[in-house]
Amino acid sequence: AEAKKGEMDLKRTEIMAKMLNTIKLKVPEGSNSVLLKNLYLSCDPYMRGRMTNAESYIAPFTPGLPVMGYGVGKVIDSGNPNYKEGDYVWGITGWEQYSLLENPEPSTLVKIKYTDLPLSYYTGILGMPGITAYVGFHEIASPKKGEFVFVSAASGAVGQLVGQFAKLMGCYVVGCAGSKEKVDLLKNKFGFDDALTTKKSMTWYFPEGIDIYFENVGGKMLDAVLANMRLRGRIAACGMISQYNLEESEGVRNNFLVITKRIRMEGFLVFDHLHVYPKFIEVMKQYIAEEKIAYVEDTVQVLENAPAALIGLFTGRNVGKQVIVVSRE
Ligand code: NDP
Repeated sequence: AEAKKGEMDLKRTEIMAKMLNTIKLKVPEGSNSVLLKNLYLSCDPYMRGRMTNAESYIAPFTPGLPVMGYGVGKVIDSGNPNYKEGDYVWGITGWEQYSLLENPEPSTLVKIKYTDLPLSYYTGILGMPGITAYVGFHEIASPKKGEFVFVSAASGAVGQLVGQFAKLMGCYVVGCAGSKEKVDLLKNKFGFDDALTTKKSMTWYFPEGIDIYFENVGGKMLDAVLANMRLRGRIAACGMISQYNLEESEGVRNNFLVITKRIRMEGFLVFDHLHVYPKFIEVMKQYIAEEKIAYVEDTVQVLENAPAALIGLFTGRNVGKQVIVVSRE
């Protein structure tokens, strides 16, 4: 039955594609909407939080409507003065082929200035995860040259950039990742000083302790790091992915060490820092042009494979930034 349904879905898509080539899609007359052809969609761990009714900084998804998330698209038609047909944009869109976005704001649907860079990069290094890494490291962690930095989920969208920002600042950087393949990537592609797969050996990697921990994982990882933090260390609390699928959060046994070691632990949300984007994009464009930053994406083809790719984030299936290719043009 599943194969039959897949065949029918495919036929429907083909018929739709043929029709769309012959008719001109338009936004409703007099509306402020933007009609977007979705090209690349981003799988992001925070989307898991939108699948529960738990209290959060962002509302749950609405059952029956498409999943909404970050993506890159091309404007097909627009009734909105901020966008015109042919513009490329990144921001919040739907997990669908085309999205009709009602009155989008320039902060949630950003016009792409540099279309000569790979458009998929605007789901990662040049988009939301990139700003997260940039702000989280430079502003929240208050780094200084020569400091000891530890990054968890280090080969992912955010982690790979944090490690490289730290190296550019002259820090000693170690990352943790879930497989040997990812550890090799950290050392050989992203230039981390060292990398490990298990939190147990942390003391060996940091005999003098950790000045900055960029927290992406939480739970037992945070416990292990607290035991290795230096006096007056800083923790940029970006995410705690190990907790997102749990009914109840794990406790942190070593939390008292925050006091005894005078650690500053600060949580942050990228949504409060989007104003840095104009500066950020110029810095990143330069880094890419000078090949100062490497970037690894894990791309999955066609929309139908998006749910499995999103779920895969929580078992570490992705190697690098998880992107869905809906269409290349
Ligand atoms: P990644 O690309 O790093 O993908 C998630 C990775 O997390 C997996 O590949 C896996 O890596 C690791 N992971 C998954 N489940 C577990 C687990 N149970 N225990 C330990 N590790 C696990 O995602 P992002 O870079 O997009 O996000 C990284 C973190 O940053 C997340 O916690 C996310 O919520 C947070 N974030 C926060 C933002 C903010 O504004 N504060 C904005 C964007 C992201 P591995 O195989 O190496 O273990």
